[in-house]
Amino acid sequence: MSPFDELEQVRADALDALTACTTLPALAAWEKQYLGRKGQLTRLTRAVGTLPKEERPTFGKRANAIKQELTAAHEARLAQVKQEALSKDLAQGAVDVTLPGRPVALGHLHLTTQTLRQLYAIFAQMGFEVYEAPDVELEAYNFDLLNIPAYHPARDMWDTFWVRDEPHSEARRLLRTHTSPGQIRAMRERAPQPLRVILPGKVYRYEQITTRSEHQFYQVEGLAVGRTITMTDLIGTMHQFAELFYGAGRKIRVRSSYFPFTEPSIEIDTDCILCGGKGCSVCKYTGWLEIAGAGMVHPVVLQNGGYDPAEWSGFAFGLGVERPAMMKYGVKDIRYFYGNDLRFLRQF
Ligand SMILES: [Zn+2]
Repeated sequence: MSPFDELEQVRADALDALTACTTLPALAAWEKQYLGRKGQLTRLTRAVGTLPKEERPTFGKRANAIKQELTAAHEARLAQVKQEALSKDLAQGAVDVTLPGRPVALGHLHLTTQTLRQLYAIFAQMGFEVYEAPDVELEAYNFDLLNIPAYHPARDMWDTFWVRDEPHSEARRLLRTHTSPGQIRAMRERAPQPLRVILPGKVYRYEQITTRSEHQFYQVEGLAVGRTITMTDLIGTMHQFAELFYGAGRKIRVRSSYFPFTEPSIEIDTDCILCGGKGCSVCKYTGWLEIAGAGMVHPVVLQNGGYDPAEWSGFAFGLGVERPAMMKYGVKDIRYFYGNDLRFLRQF
């Protein structure tokens, strides 16, 4: 038999055999026998090399056509057999079509993501755009350019995850210990234009994990740079944030503080959302909860960002994400955020 005749023979055999297939396993076996990698059609197609050169294209074309025909026939038969099986099940009452469908289990956003999005929405109302900066940061951006010199205690290696522990250099990289390096990146990109951004993201500290502190957590930093920005703008922005996040009628209080990258620096508290200022265990009986560290951008930092401090001023603030969520929802242990326990996550 010539290879051409063999091809036609395989086609005829296959189509006959297909009609005889009445179950899904039989159809699978058929597919393997004729169309599979070691199937009859494949084996014949490989025989093309033994043919005279001028016959090869015709043979190849015919083999392909048969393959397509058989594939289509198999699909049609498969659909037919499935339909027959379903009808049979229905007739026997094996499928109860009155049962409700199986619900699709939908997940939802993590509490941290929900909180971040609330913060984005609140600051978007006040004209802040979201600016993302890298998690793996240069030492210069994380410290030097933010007016944190090499001898500053924050440089202590116990606080920092170094990517490479080399001697102090501009090229040395670390996992950012705060979102503030994004300030320099945003300013250098936008200077000398006015700027209003929030910088969200994860930060990393080489620290003991406790119920109140994790070695990784989120921060949202805010930065506004303009020609007439004053401390009043900062306090107004923080008050607005407290009311939108914790609820209308919130009071805030400002305490003086110190950060290397702001001058003057302040800390901002809101009256305790749980006791309303009377004093409880959450506010440690002070009636106040700390919500942000903030201040006027230090002239050195403005300059490093590309703004002339004689003409420009700005404010910056840093908010937690997990801590405010803990206060708002009464979460007692920060470790739940990364514990991947669905019993915790499903509550929000
Ligand atoms: Zn309280």
